[in-house]
Amino acid sequence: MHEIARNPLLGLHLLELTALVEEFGQPSYRARQLFEALYRQRVETAEQISTLPQDFRRSLVERGFSVGLPGIDKKFASSDGTVRYLVACADGQTVETVWMPEGDGGESGDGSEADAQTEAAGRAWERATICVSSQVGCAVDCQFCLTALLGVKRNLTAGEIVGQVCAVLNDQKVSPPQERVNLVFMGMGEPFLNYDNFMQAVRLLVEGVGIPETRMTVSTAGITPRIYDLGAEAVRPKLAISLNASNDAMRSRLMPINRKWNLERLISAARDFPLRTREKLTFEYVLLHQVNDSVENARELLELIRGVRAKVNLIALNPGPGIEFQTPAQDRVLQFRHILMAAGVPAFVRRPRGRDIYAACGQLKRTVEMAPAS
Ligand code: SAH
Repeated sequence: MHEIARNPLLGLHLLELTALVEEFGQPSYRARQLFEALYRQRVETAEQISTLPQDFRRSLVERGFSVGLPGIDKKFASSDGTVRYLVACADGQTVETVWMPEGDGGESGDGSEADAQTEAAGRAWERATICVSSQVGCAVDCQFCLTALLGVKRNLTAGEIVGQVCAVLNDQKVSPPQERVNLVFMGMGEPFLNYDNFMQAVRLLVEGVGIPETRMTVSTAGITPRIYDLGAEAVRPKLAISLNASNDAMRSRLMPINRKWNLERLISAARDFPLRTREKLTFEYVLLHQVNDSVENARELLELIRGVRAKVNLIALNPGPGIEFQTPAQDRVLQFRHILMAAGVPAFVRRPRGRDIYAACGQLKRTVEMAPAS
């Protein structure tokens, strides 16, 4: 059973914590101590916050404030090193969070920090990526996505988004910023339909947990107005756009959200996006056998994104029950990539991770929920 946390402290920013400690008649430096304990030490209970006086800790708990991370309900380790977590919120809802040592083969794959430090630390990985969820389920209804089949249950709070990262870091015994961790907001849900909580989580992850914004990537199905909002943020992750089609007819069929914000509007937003020095936008393109994977589609895609400073991440469909599409053969994937590369567009094929543990998008939760009750 999960006890409902009435007033979780995880998710509050330094300013909010400052107001809180002052309400308790405590000096404001206590807020900084609380902030460090929550995000840098990632404590699991109020008793662990040894920097705070005992009576203050006690009165926090008495007044219904709770300290703690989301629980890990289930954990599956793949032979390729991927670990997939089913993380439980206080109300019993679960989301997926995935640990991928060596990244996902697509984001930040510059390899620049593959150095002796790693070996000295005795670790098996040089950098790891955590794939984070933003909602319980998803409302966007992309036809190839397993999370879509769940529908949307609710938004995650900022604390629950940060909490996934903290729970996985603790389980893996990893501490940023000393150890290099990337985040991709590519788990369950559409981050831009939970924009405020998502952005609050980003700020806490940067300032509290210590993961640089440049090591974070948020992926959107194309909620165009929020792309402009993200561009205006002082602190923000890199942007990835799930394109998945090379023309409107195809995209509207695969991603109904395209009927609301079509390719013209989406690509305009991409063109207007204020990139930092050396930053590139990412277009993701899930390849579906004989649907969007032809030579013509690759050429059409090139035309569509011409002039945008971007790379393309190609993902061969991860198939699953209830999905009517097939995975293209490897030579079709490579041919598609080749056409993009030959035109000067950097394109990468994302390697499927943890297939043996149903690590494709939304698969774990769905597999667990469909299994007969034991
Ligand atoms: N809602 C956001 C983030 C979650 S999906 C978005 O749409 O971008 C993250 C990525 O996984 C997207 O690029 C999406 O197109 C891709 N994806 C979804 N289902 C997939 C599947 N079955 N196989 C491969 N990639 C998939």
